[in-house]
Amino acid sequence: MNLLENIRIVLVEPLYGGNIGSVCRAMNNNNITDLAIVNPRPTTDWGEARKLSCNAKAQLEARQEFQTLKEAVAGCTVVAGTSARTGFYRDTAYSPKEFAPIGLESAKDHKIALVFGREDKGLFNEELALCTHIIQIPSSELYTSLNLSHAVYLCCYEMFCAAGIFQPAEETAPESSSELRERMFSVWREMMIKTEFTHQQKLEHMMMGLRRIFSRGKLTVPDVKILMGLAKQSIWVAEQWEKEKKCNAQLQNNPESAE
Ligand code: SAH
Repeated sequence: MNLLENIRIVLVEPLYGGNIGSVCRAMNNNNITDLAIVNPRPTTDWGEARKLSCNAKAQLEARQEFQTLKEAVAGCTVVAGTSARTGFYRDTAYSPKEFAPIGLESAKDHKIALVFGREDKGLFNEELALCTHIIQIPSSELYTSLNLSHAVYLCCYEMFCAAGIFQPAEETAPESSSELRERMFSVWREMMIKTEFTHQQKLEHMMMGLRRIFSRGKLTVPDVKILMGLAKQSIWVAEQWEKEKKCNAQLQNNPESAE
């Protein structure tokens, strides 16, 4: 089962429609879909909420509304309140990264809630009292409080990462063999001489430098083919240049031959 389905995001009396929309987007970016709003304000700008939700409009429409926080979290085992402030047992707070495995463990069998406060006043102490855990997002001492939707994003993101669903794109091209790499180095060796990039005396030193540079990352077969192609093309240009030089020298020595 998808553990993230069991995570409920609860917004307590949010002030701005724009933030509600951004929260919907942040949730959907992280595969989290259960949104509860406690006591939505009659002045909420739902047009702004729709605008900022972008492609997460269905998420906005699917929200549930509750009169109190107590009702919104009634069916949840773990209830994690988020707060930027210190005091009131907040010194035992978890970071979102620390909390994620704890929350997911409970989400295997139960609904859990992540609770977010008002933009101007945060969560009241009686609301924090309903929470089993407190999450504090590390932030600068100069300005500890994040935008509501940013705070939701970071918490959802840590839950999403800890769930291990995301598969980052991997390099599919095969790694180059030593034989192919050595063929490429011998073409580069020839290229550095023919283009007069270096002299015979400095060549070995240059080659060692190149080997160090190219071994800083993993070279794939297509990488080596590009590098080899580049050197071959440079050799071809250098040879044309050499021919032209010879031709011009001949013309200078024997101007009649041009006629
Ligand atoms: N002025 C309010 C700030 C509220 S910001 C206060 O002093 O509490 C709106 C909500 O975003 C907060 O209630 C909390 O849920 C969340 N939030 C903002 N910054 C946070 C942080 N550093 N750690 C955890 N939650 C944070």
